[in-house]
This record gives sequence, structure tokens and C-alpha cells, in this order.
Amino acid sequence: MNNRTSLVFATGNRNKLKEVKAMLDDSIELRNLEDINCYEEIPETKNTIELNAIQKAQYVANKFEVNCFAEDTGLEIEALNGEPGVFSARYAGLQRSADDNMELVLSKMKQVANRRARFKTVVALIINEKQFTFEGIINGEIATEKKGLKGFGYDPIFIPDGYKKTFAELDEKEKNSISHRAIAISKFLDFLIEVV
Ligand code: IMP
Repeated sequence: MNNRTSLVFATGNRNKLKEVKAMLDDSIELRNLEDINCYEEIPETKNTIELNAIQKAQYVANKFEVNCFAEDTGLEIEALNGEPGVFSARYAGLQRSADDNMELVLSKMKQVANRRARFKTVVALIINEKQFTFEGIINGEIATEKKGLKGFGYDPIFIPDGYKKTFAELDEKEKNSISHRAIAISKFLDFLIEVV
């Protein structure tokens, strides 16, 4: 990459913005939705994580005529047939409460021995009107209770493989070096270095 690439990250989620900012280097000039005066709700109505990521990126790229990327993430629990999956944000209702969502997962998993789960992120990039996607997956287990105060969303109940702590007990740097989002963003950066 010769010059800095200017990209809008189409997210209203400050936690995601903070995590992704920490993963990028100076080769990318990261702009957020406020920087392009986008204050509206971005549609997210599809039935897969990948299609939602593409929908969000396409919406902002088309309406604001910018190169941009968006991401969508879901927690997929084996014993719950992949739930909450694409419904992760509103699993316990439209109030989109992380605590309510985690309580619902923990109650459904109360008597369940198989605690295997994974986080999946898809990053969708629209650059010069072309579309690309990058996937990141981290495997782990659902804890039996909430632990830790860091991170966001389902972090207090997810223990990544190879660790004894939940994502919410890990330092920000540690989560950002192994997470689903880090894996997807690393593929996205490799692509930008090659192609732009
Ligand atoms: P969305 O991608 O913003 O639709 O998020 C889906 C749901 O997954 C929301 O409830 C988020 O809080 C949650 N979520 C997204 N990324 C993470 C993460 O890195 N850790 C824990 N929960 C997450």
C-alpha cells in the first residue's frame, strides 16, 4: 500500500470501533459514521451474518459515496443449533440488552453438558464499487456464569479455547490478538496491502 487508504467503518457500535481502531496501523485513515454525517440507523435485516455485513456496507457506500467496510458478528452455540447466531443482538428481545441476552443463554444451557460455541465475524468491504468479504472464527465454550468486566456483549460468558478466562477477563490487547474480529480484520488488512 503506497498511500493511506481512507475507509469509513460503518458501525454505530463504539466497542467495535475501539477494537478495530486498535487493530489498524497508519496505512488506513479510519473514518466513522459521524465523520460523514451519517446519524441514521443502518438497515440490518438479512438472515445471515454475511448478508447483514454486506447490507450495512452497501447501504453506507451507496448513500454516502464512500469506500467503506462493515462487520456483523454472531455467537453460535452448538447445543442450541447455532443460536443465537444472526439474532445475537436481539436474542432476548428488541431492547438489545447484553445482560438479558447472556441470562437467556445461561438459562438455556443450564442442564447442557456440551458447551461448545464460536464467535463468527464477517467483514464486508466495498472499495471502488467492488465487494469483498473476510471471515473470522474463534472457537470456545460457554461458561456456567458471567465472569469479568472488560469487553462487551457476550464476552463475560465466552471462554476461548486454550484459555481459562472469559473474553471479559482478558486484557483488551489479549482479546484483540486472538478474537474472531481480529482474525477477520487481519485477512482484510492482508488483502488491502496486496490489492490497494
Ligand atoms: P452485531 O454484529 O452488532 O449485530 O452484534 C451482534 C451481537 O453480538 C451483539 O449482541 C453484540 O453485543 C455481540 N457481539 C458482537 N461482537 C462481540 C464480541 O466481540 N464479543 C462479545 N459479544 C459480541
